[in-house]
Amino acid sequence: MDYDVLVVGAGILGLATAYHVLEKDPKARVLIVDKMGDVGQGATAKSAACFRAGLFTSHTNRLLSYTSVSFYIDIQKEGTDLGIKQVGYLILRSEDQFKEIADVSQQLEREGMLRIYKKDELKKLLKMNFEFDGDEEAEILGVKNVDYGLFGYKCGYMDADKLAFYYRDEIKSRGGEFLFNTTVKKILVEPEERLGIPREPRAWQKVKFSGVETNKGVLKAKQLVIAAGGWTAQLLDPLGIDCISKPKKRQIFTIRPRTDEQKALLYTQGFNEEGILPFTILPTEHYIRADERDGTFWLCLSDEIRPFSTDEEPEENYYYDNIYPIIVKYFPQLEGARVDNMWAGLYMINSVDHNPVVFKRANMVVATGASGSGILKGDAIGRIAAALLFDEPYAELYGGEKIPSDKLEVVGRALEEEKFVF
Ligand SMILES: Cc1cc2nc3c(=O)[nH]c(=O)nc-3n(C[C@H](O)[C@H](O)[C@H](O)COP(=O)(O)OP(=O)(O)OC[C@H]3O[C@@H](n4cnc5c(N)ncnc54)[C@H](O)[C@@H]3O)c2cc1C
Repeated sequence: MDYDVLVVGAGILGLATAYHVLEKDPKARVLIVDKMGDVGQGATAKSAACFRAGLFTSHTNRLLSYTSVSFYIDIQKEGTDLGIKQVGYLILRSEDQFKEIADVSQQLEREGMLRIYKKDELKKLLKMNFEFDGDEEAEILGVKNVDYGLFGYKCGYMDADKLAFYYRDEIKSRGGEFLFNTTVKKILVEPEERLGIPREPRAWQKVKFSGVETNKGVLKAKQLVIAAGGWTAQLLDPLGIDCISKPKKRQIFTIRPRTDEQKALLYTQGFNEEGILPFTILPTEHYIRADERDGTFWLCLSDEIRPFSTDEEPEENYYYDNIYPIIVKYFPQLEGARVDNMWAGLYMINSVDHNPVVFKRANMVVATGASGSGILKGDAIGRIAAALLFDEPYAELYGGEKIPSDKLEVVGRALEEEKFVF
């Protein structure tokens, strides 16, 4: 039987889209197909699941993040545990780095979104090295001084699995269906009106995307959503449809504190109620997430020069070559910290403006390009994709603010520059 909407990909973007389709039309027959055995097993599961509400310089990013995070926080307030810990974001910057973002940081401080800490204030709270003048090794490693800290309030981390399960259960309770362990091999193209002539569709015929061919057979639907994460371009390339986003591997390494000094760093007091180190971004863009749940540090660095590829194998050497030497400069108490666990997933990178990509071609909506912020903007992206499916000119985000549904479209894109890219 034909479905109204068939979604390829049960990651956060596919799930949020399916959920909002069913919110708009409870009678819609919605099917979500994924090659994995359950929801959120792609990049969604691999993410650090950190969030920053409104801590962006572009208006669009502020809107997408603020509304999505507010939605998640309210879900948790209403009784569904999403593992949200509002531990804050601490963005450490050198004097030079701060100059570039001083205006916008001060504006965000006036709006109550963040607090700017000066070095002397930070020194009272954080046990770390702040100055590296005369340290030749630090210079070679590109380690910069810490002169400022921007502390974002409505920020922290959550549990991506719990968020994915929330959407899954809500979708199921609204009658949405899932088909797991099913790989989509091809998107099917048909003429809108079949004329019964050979080699249809011809170039002059209007086409529609009538369904997908999978390892378990053909599935048909009136409308399609392609939210296949790092594999989206593989599905669209044969159609000649450009999603201006390509996959790159991103890796997380966890280390368990073994000494009292390491434990004291993990449970740094003074920033949040949890009494834990906030999600901390160093001037080198390495980040540290102190995980309260399993008492570990999560470390990550996004490298620029790396092939676009769907390779997801973590590389232990990456930690010892690129993360450890820098981290111990800032936090000497982490000397000797070895990798306990590691994993890798895919960012879908839109190098044009680093904003998500959501657009419609004929009866197919594509939602991708969420880079390292698909969890924290996921709900808003889902609302925009759902609005496009219903041909609505505006998508209503959580809290009521509206955004043009074609704001994240590829053609004629004109989005504000984002300066808070970490
Ligand atoms: C290491 C790392 C850290 C991150 N940290 C953060 C963070 O702190 N905060 C944040 O907001 N974001 C973070 N992200 C980004 C975030 O995880 C992604 O932006 C988000 O998960 C993208 O969701 P998605 O639905 O587009 O993709 P996915 O979650 O990858 O979902 C795509 C789904 O499509 C399925 N699929 C693909 N191809 C096919 C096919 N042919 N047939 C059937 N099924 C298919 C896959 O199995 C997968 O389940 C991080 C990502 C990584 C890798």
